[in-house]
Amino acid sequence: MRDYDKCILCYKCVDACGDQWQNSFAISVAGRGFDARIAVEHDGPLTDSACVYCGNCGNCGNCGNCGNCGNCVEVCPTGALSFKSEFDMRAAGTWDETEQTETTTVCAYCGVGCNLTLHVQDNEIVKVTSPHDNPVTHGNLCIKGRFGYQHVQNRD
Ligand code: SF4
Ligand code: SF4
Repeated sequence: MRDYDKCILCYKCVDACGDQWQNSFAISVAGRGFDARIAVEHDGPLTDSACVYCGNCGNCGNCGNCGNCGNCVEVCPTGALSFKSEFDMRAAGTWDETEQTETTTVCAYCGVGCNLTLHVQDNEIVKVTSPHDNPVTHGNLCIKGRFGYQHVQNRD
């Protein structure tokens, strides 16, 4: 979810999409002064941009744009970019970090074996992050590790 009213133009998402991690360079700052804002090329819609909902996490070294990594979401310090699950629960008034546990485990989707930190509330995974101090992944994940957890709690 994007809410740029909360953006402080810290550039963390730009760096994460650029030469810090992704090397996709899909987002940058458009405009100057009070009009400065995070945007894609030509200030168009994200779907028409170089953003490929990438997943080019670099963790496995051979993926090449597999899905939506959300690494820009991971680094945003203000909630201008946020996980939809967290956004929806906050809007509903049900997000309660005091009731959440965090369990770090190993992603089983592929052989890279990234660390996943599962944020669980009321016996449901509500968000997945990755330890920033991991020397291999540095908090980055691909779409499967970060967002592919719904099947775990499909109890039908
Ligand atoms: S990381 Fe968040 S606060 Fe920083 S520039 Fe990007 S959207 Fe704005
Ligand atoms: S997050 Fe999971 S699927 Fe993605 S590269 Fe890491 S181990 Fe593989």
